[in-house]
Amino acid sequence: MMAPSINAIIVGAGIGGLACAIAARRQGLNVTVLERAEKLTPVGAGIQIPPNAARIWAQYGLLDQLKEYSVVSKATVLRAWKDGELLCSRSVGEALNSDWPWLVIHRADYQRILAAEASRLGVDIKLRAEVQDIDFETTTVTLRNGEFISGDVIIGADGLWSTLRSRILGHDSPPRETGDLAYRGTFSLSALQALKDPAVDELCKQNIVTMWIGPESHAVLYPVRCGNEFNLVMTRPDDLPSDVKTEVGNLEQMKALFEGWDPVLTKVLTAFSSVLKWKMLHHDELSSWTRNNVALLGDACHPSLPYQAQGAAMAVEDGAIVATLLGLYQQSHSESLPTLTLPETLKLYESVQKARTTTLHLGSISNQHLYHLDDGPEQEERDRILKAADWKDKPDGESEPFIWIDVGYQKAVVGRDAIGDAKKKWYEVAKQRT
Ligand SMILES: Cc1cc2nc3c(=O)[nH]c(=O)nc-3n(C[C@H](O)[C@H](O)[C@H](O)COP(=O)(O)OP(=O)(O)OC[C@H]3O[C@@H](n4cnc5c(N)ncnc54)[C@H](O)[C@@H]3O)c2cc1C
Repeated sequence: MMAPSINAIIVGAGIGGLACAIAARRQGLNVTVLERAEKLTPVGAGIQIPPNAARIWAQYGLLDQLKEYSVVSKATVLRAWKDGELLCSRSVGEALNSDWPWLVIHRADYQRILAAEASRLGVDIKLRAEVQDIDFETTTVTLRNGEFISGDVIIGADGLWSTLRSRILGHDSPPRETGDLAYRGTFSLSALQALKDPAVDELCKQNIVTMWIGPESHAVLYPVRCGNEFNLVMTRPDDLPSDVKTEVGNLEQMKALFEGWDPVLTKVLTAFSSVLKWKMLHHDELSSWTRNNVALLGDACHPSLPYQAQGAAMAVEDGAIVATLLGLYQQSHSESLPTLTLPETLKLYESVQKARTTTLHLGSISNQHLYHLDDGPEQEERDRILKAADWKDKPDGESEPFIWIDVGYQKAVVGRDAIGDAKKKWYEVAKQRT
C-alpha cells in the first residue's frame, strides 16, 4: 500500500523557501509555504547565481528560464580602488572547469520565476501568514491571526531574523554586526549611456562582474535584466546605529565616501538616483539546525557576509538537499523498506550541509580581509600574488594564500553537486541499516 504523501510546511518564501518548495513538490510531497508579507517583494536588487546553484536549477528544469532574464557572466574581475588597475580575473569556465554558468540576475526576476514554478507544481503559497510560534511535539505552527497549521515536517526558511531559529535553540539568537554596511541600488543602461563616457561604455559592453577593492571598502558592479540594468553594491565601515538595519542612503554622502576612487567608478556613481544603506549581519555556527520534525535552512541557520556571492546559493543547496532526503524518506516508507525516522532524516541533511556552510561562512570573512586591506606593504604583496595567479591545481597539501585564487577551494565551491551528495549520503546510511 502506498504511504500518504508527507505534508511539508515551509516558513518563508525567499529564495531558499521557494527552492525547497519546488524541490519538495518534485519529490511528491504536499507543500504549503507560509509567508508573512502581503506580496512577494524581493529585498535588494541584483543577485549572482553561481554554478553550484545554476546546476540545481538545470536539474529542476529552470535554468533556461532564468537565463532569459539574466546575463551569463564571463568572469569576475578584481581592480585596484584608486586607478582601476586590473589585479586578477577569474573566469568560471576556463579556470574552474565548471559545466554550469555563472548568472547575474535581478532578485525580482529570480523570485518571480521561482514563485511561478512553485505554483505551477501545486505548492500552496499563503501570504499574510506570519508564524509566531511552533509546537515541536505536534509539528504545528501558530500564525499571527491565531490559526494553527500542522504538518509532518516544518522547514524554517524565515531568513536573517528567523523566529524558528530562536525556538529551536530555546533562546533569542539575533545575528551579529560584521562592522560593514552596503549601499545597494540599480540603474538603467540608458542612464549609464547618458554619461557619454567611453570607459563606462566599454565596461557596459562586457558581461562580467567588476569589483574594486580598497581600504575598508569595496564595490561590485554587474549587469542584470539581459544587460538593460546594472546593479551596484558598495561596502563601507558601518556607521548605522545598532537599531537601524536599513535606511534610504544619502547620495551626496555616498559619493563623498568614494571620492578619489577609480574615475570609472565615480562616474558610474553619478547615474544613481536613489540608494539603500544596509547593515551587514552574520551569525556564528549554530549548535543545531533541527529539533524533532523541524529544520532550518538558508539565512535562518547560516547568514554570512555576501563576499563570495554564495548566500542564496547555499539556501538553494539546503532546500534541494533537505527535499531530496525527504523524498527518499517518503519513497522508502511507501516501499516498506528499513528507513530513517523523520528527525534522523533532517539530521542527515544537517550532516550533509553544515560543514560546507561553515567553510563558506569563514571564506566570506577571509575575503573581507582580502578586499579591505589598507594601502601599504601587505596590500602590495596581495596585489603581487593576485596578479601572479596561474589557475593551476596545486599539489596535495598546498594552497594559495587567498581562497579567491585557490583553484581547489573554488572548484569545491562552484562544482558542488548538492543533489548528488544528498542521494549518496542517503544510500550510504540506508545500506548500513539493512
Ligand atoms: C548586499 C548583499 C548582497 C548579496 N549578494 C548575494 C549574491 O550575489 N549571491 C548570493 O547567493 N547571495 C547574496 N546575498 C545573500 C542572500 O541575499 C541571502 O543569503 C538569501 O537571500 C537568503 O535567502 P533565504 O530564503 O534564506 O532568506 P530571505 O530571502 O531573507 O527570506 C526569508 C523569508 O521569510 C519571510 N519570513 C520571515 N519571518 C517570517 C515569519 N515569522 N513567518 C512567515 N514568513 C517569514 C520573509 O518575509 C522572507 O520572505 C547577498 C546579501 C546581501 C546583504
